[in-house]
Amino acid sequence: MDANTPKDPLTILNTVFNHSSFRPRQEEIIGNVLAGKNTLAILPTGAGKSLCFQIPALVFDGLTVVVSPLIALMKDQVDGLRKKGVHDVAYINSMLDSSTKERIYELLKASKLKMLYVAPETFVDNKLMSILKSCNISLIAIDEVHCISVWGHNFRPDYLRLRRMIRALNNPPPPVLGLTATATKTVEVDVQKQLGIKCDVFKASFDRKNLLFSVIRLKTNYGKEKILKGLLEKLKGSVIVYVNFTRTAEELATYLADAGLSTSYYHGQIKDKEERRRIQNDFISGGTRIVVATNAFGMGIDKEDIRAIIHYNLPKSIENYYQEVGRAGRDGKPAYCFLLYSKMDEIKLRKLIQYNTPSRKQIKAVLGLLTRAEGKLIYVNVKKVANDLKLDEVPIRLILHHLERMDAINTYFRIFRRASVKMLNADVKSVKYQQEAEKLIRNVYFKENLKRWMDLEVLSRSVQISVPRINNILRELKIARVIELEERDFCTPIKVNPGIKDVDTIELLEIFFRLEESSMKKIDKVVEYVESGECKRKFILNYFGEDYEGTCNACSVCNPLLRGIGEDTEVNGLNG
Ligand code: ADP
Ligand code: MG
Repeated sequence: MDANTPKDPLTILNTVFNHSSFRPRQEEIIGNVLAGKNTLAILPTGAGKSLCFQIPALVFDGLTVVVSPLIALMKDQVDGLRKKGVHDVAYINSMLDSSTKERIYELLKASKLKMLYVAPETFVDNKLMSILKSCNISLIAIDEVHCISVWGHNFRPDYLRLRRMIRALNNPPPPVLGLTATATKTVEVDVQKQLGIKCDVFKASFDRKNLLFSVIRLKTNYGKEKILKGLLEKLKGSVIVYVNFTRTAEELATYLADAGLSTSYYHGQIKDKEERRRIQNDFISGGTRIVVATNAFGMGIDKEDIRAIIHYNLPKSIENYYQEVGRAGRDGKPAYCFLLYSKMDEIKLRKLIQYNTPSRKQIKAVLGLLTRAEGKLIYVNVKKVANDLKLDEVPIRLILHHLERMDAINTYFRIFRRASVKMLNADVKSVKYQQEAEKLIRNVYFKENLKRWMDLEVLSRSVQISVPRINNILRELKIARVIELEERDFCTPIKVNPGIKDVDTIELLEIFFRLEESSMKKIDKVVEYVESGECKRKFILNYFGEDYEGTCNACSVCNPLLRGIGEDTEVNGLNG
């Protein structure tokens, strides 16, 4: 953008984004943001939330920081803006190499950026923070802001630090715009509480008239895959089938593919990025018609013409359900939303939640580990601890978060504990931290040039430089092409304070008890949705606090044609 860029939202909408008019609530939200007020925008998926910060960013003189949880989405948005001629935008996340990061830091220091997208875990990076403190920040936009709420359905511990970060930025802190498609009152209230601010709230209707809701109740799980196959054979166009477990995704996809249906699977355990991208792209291009997936699939899949979403297992909450079915029919044409319910799945889902709630024993184990390190700085591999304790990573990070709030520990930015180094040359004269760099490369590891994995804690003791500092020096050496560097064994530095001895296990247990209770209540609601004889659309909209009168004629209660293989006429096997 240059000095000639228009400063009026509508003109920007027309000339930069090529849209003729605003969609519902966009203009009001943008107006509120431009007035410098804290704002919470609650609009359904596809409503156009991005413009609500992109347009103000182009109007403001200063920088707009956009916090976004998805690295892939970040890149897509920045590429999209550049294509529209907006070049002073960048993104920064853990996937970028340090020389690219450095370039962005320089742009920030020179006030050359209008918009910076950051991942929440990058935002807590000390270096970035200290640069941002000296920037003129006009707005902090937090996308998917419901991730800050443990009562939401997509909690991300990294979001909890945002409050502290925003306060540390400027005095007074810059205005905040939170954006989400999660409309429950609990989330609306909790987001503001966690951010420590009061917001003007803007909400649009969540009704999606072209979605056809259908619930199919099954007596048993026996023959369920055949019912699914039957449905898929009748349906036309692209379909996502959501399941709750990785294994189900794989087995079901194989079954469907063997039956001659064009099917692939997707889940969070597929680690190969290329593989993931290929599955997504094949689905988007229509090369594969059906994807059987866990809820890892979908966010950021920009496909207009998905004709059906089938929930093969019970979703965890109405929020999850509505977010997932919301991916269908973005083109406005009719799309089906089938939910297959069986008691068996409900029981399995509840067991899963109990399994992920830390027990007294597990909490004590974490506390024990920390207490033994009282007064020290330790490096904790959260994933490994979680694995050892047979717990999910999220509860462990929650325990750490609460301990930090109790002042029993301080946690710092992630570091790597192992490195593999290949010397390219020994000239470190122009390198930052030159003296320490010289000391490092005099060490045997570097001299021998074995290119084996070295333990940075051992190295730290022998050269008397802290591990986080060694991380920085190695990265500088890499930028200066003195070494080739590979990093491994990432962990969180934790300083354990004397307060750790006074932590009350019961207090932590209660927190998790309340979380479990809330998760169970969410499942109760989904079961109520399945069993209720009232209009499905009305049920969902009421759940999100929206009134709805009359019959929708587009759900399996209001319209007999949508009963498919039979709501209320309970199905047992294929011929129900
Ligand atoms: P959300 O974040 O709310 O899910 P996005 O910001 O990704 O939605 O926008 C969804 C789509 O709507 C995008 O393709 C965007 O270009 C389009 N869009 C947004 N605002 C408008 C508008 N005023 N007129 C036409 N299309 C719009
Ligand atoms: Mg969005």
